[in-house]
Amino acid sequence: MTTRRATRQIHVGSVAVGGGAPVSVQSMTTTKTADVDGTLAQIYALSGAGADIVRVTCNDVAAAQGLAEMIPRSPVPIVADIHFQYRLALAAVEAGVAGLRLNPGNIRKESHIKAVAAAASAAGIPIRVGVNAGSLDKDILAAHGGPVPEALVESALKEIRYLEEVGFHDIKISVKHSDVPSMVAAYRLLADTVEYPLHLGVTEAGPPPGGLIKSVAGIASLLLDGIGDTIRFSLTADPVEEAKAGRSLLEYLGLRERQGLDLIACPSCGRAEVDVIGVVERAKAALEDAGLPIQVAVMGCVVNGPGEAREADIGIAAGRGKGHLFIKGEVVRVVPEGLMVEALVEEAQRLVDEGVEARLAARDITAADLAEETRLELIGVQGDANATAERRAAVADVAEGTGERDR
Ligand code: SF4
Repeated sequence: MTTRRATRQIHVGSVAVGGGAPVSVQSMTTTKTADVDGTLAQIYALSGAGADIVRVTCNDVAAAQGLAEMIPRSPVPIVADIHFQYRLALAAVEAGVAGLRLNPGNIRKESHIKAVAAAASAAGIPIRVGVNAGSLDKDILAAHGGPVPEALVESALKEIRYLEEVGFHDIKISVKHSDVPSMVAAYRLLADTVEYPLHLGVTEAGPPPGGLIKSVAGIASLLLDGIGDTIRFSLTADPVEEAKAGRSLLEYLGLRERQGLDLIACPSCGRAEVDVIGVVERAKAALEDAGLPIQVAVMGCVVNGPGEAREADIGIAAGRGKGHLFIKGEVVRVVPEGLMVEALVEEAQRLVDEGVEARLAARDITAADLAEETRLELIGVQGDANATAERRAAVADVAEGTGERDR
């Protein structure tokens, strides 16, 4: 396990951030904040998808009033996102938010920043200094010649100085960039400079799949080095996708306990005995409906499947018209291929209810022998199907210059 970077700890409502707390997932609503019911519906959806904290824009008085109404009804802490108007930060504090995000690029006046810090301090809530490469202070941009990592960090440090001058230390920081290497470099530099918790994100990552890939590349690089205390995927998509992706990433990195399904599947190859993509789609839909927190493998053939997926809690491998159901790599049941998904879901449910030992004890004792027979049979058949002799002759032709391409 990676040693996590030691930081101060802050609290965003009931969620601890930094100081050894689990890495938390954030997302942001896309509704108009003044639409209280619409925004709350989205907050509930985000919470259900794995968000621990939700950020909501506070861009006018109606939004601040909306916040006051929705905060008592929210299932997760709400952070107000503030740009340009420091008075809206004061209004959001009055509305009862659990945290503020200030953009140093557009709230620059020292007296305004200090007034917000005083209000946040009195309310006992933290402030995120949220630097964004696309909205850096012009002076800092000019001094560095562009939004380089050093410029992002300087912008954050300038704002932090103002906060510290009035004794405010409930701070977390982000230095987001849309360019992944620059984002990673900025956070590494910041991590070496301050002891505050860090909020990770690749800004304006765009729609999936590119946005997901950029976000994972940047966020995971840092998390695997122990850097980062809370994360957000900034996708041009339904924010529920952001929350799901954030939560899944933390689970895949072993930073949060698995809540839902982890479906692993072979990529399929010439040995596949079944339409792996189709079976995976059916299994995924059925298992997600069942909401089981286990790792399930779907493998295209019994030749390599059970062995390669032996770390999975449960799995299925196809072979000669049959589905070979295995638990921790051991074949426990053989069913007709057409029933393999149903059998998988049923056994997965029993596994969760009864445990691995009980289900291994209840296995069909003939299943392992039948699977081994099928495996050997397939190896024999596929040896012919792969036309090894013809391929060897073709390789020799190429090597000796007598092949098709030399004529
Ligand atoms: S499990 Fe079988 S079908 Fe799937 S990739 Fe491996 S060898 Fe190919």
